[in-house]
Amino acid sequence: MKHVEGTIVALFLMGAFSFGFTLLSRETNTIAVLRAKDNSALILNAVTAPEVVKETSGIAQEVLPEMTEAEISTLKIFLRAYYQTEKINTTPYFDTDTKALLLKYQRDTALPETGILDTATRKSITDAPFRTHCPKGSGDVDASMTPISPTQGISKTYTPDGLIAMPSLYTKNTSFCLTQRTRDAVMALIDGARADGFSIKVSSAFRSYATQAYLYRMHFDILKLTRKTVAVAGHSEHQLGVAVDLTGASIGFKSASAYFKTSPEYTWLIAHAGEYGFVQSYPTGKETITGYAGEPWHFRYVGKEIANEILKEEITVYEYLNKMTGEAVSI
Ligand SMILES: [Zn+2]
Repeated sequence: MKHVEGTIVALFLMGAFSFGFTLLSRETNTIAVLRAKDNSALILNAVTAPEVVKETSGIAQEVLPEMTEAEISTLKIFLRAYYQTEKINTTPYFDTDTKALLLKYQRDTALPETGILDTATRKSITDAPFRTHCPKGSGDVDASMTPISPTQGISKTYTPDGLIAMPSLYTKNTSFCLTQRTRDAVMALIDGARADGFSIKVSSAFRSYATQAYLYRMHFDILKLTRKTVAVAGHSEHQLGVAVDLTGASIGFKSASAYFKTSPEYTWLIAHAGEYGFVQSYPTGKETITGYAGEPWHFRYVGKEIANEILKEEITVYEYLNKMTGEAVSI
């Protein structure tokens, strides 16, 4: 699969950019985590004008003295993900193409066009992975029932057709995209929980291959986290548009939090998610089967009928879909 997760992940999301990317070692990473929890890190230092300095491989590079190479590289990965482009590379140099794309981002999001990572831009980028508009489908055959694991993935170019945004009432802080059936089902699920007195929201939904690549790099290469809760790009159920990360009021709507497992909202989901066609993809205790750490917040839409079969057989969605491979499966 997967994707983002782990308590930590929350932080990336709130993220790396908002910390001004001073994350250079495990120790500073730890500090960043602590700062992230109270949101104080959202106060950022202004970045001054860039200086032209470095020469690499014979090409003059513009280097922002306030940015580490890791920061620049991550900014570039972010821009690649946001614009679904490979026009810029991921080397740690702030070159003219990067600057041009950053200026475009600032223009497109109504920010001052400074061409540098100033305070407003860093703040804007912080939640951008979740603010992206719903992309157009790639026109490929529906892959919503593909089994996903660390070794079984999906094409880099696959984007489901018909992605549609969720109303913000149902999401944690911004809009997310899902296939229509998944969106309707998760809204029904959240409404059902509300009727029973539980407040549940979506904290992540569709993520493109490029966004996943950005998250993976952030998790392992920048934040130096080790918990296997972020999938390699192409191995995330989120790319299928049928997976959601959920959170609840009782844990302050934290994203991808291990605390969710002991929350009353989680207990409600375990009892009722199947009625709405959702199953937990990565149950604790099934790590050797799924290949991923337990993720109590991550649910996949498979339709009511299949969800009931999976629950009845007490197997994982991965096992079920593998068993079905080669047979016609529809939801
Ligand atoms: Zn997830």
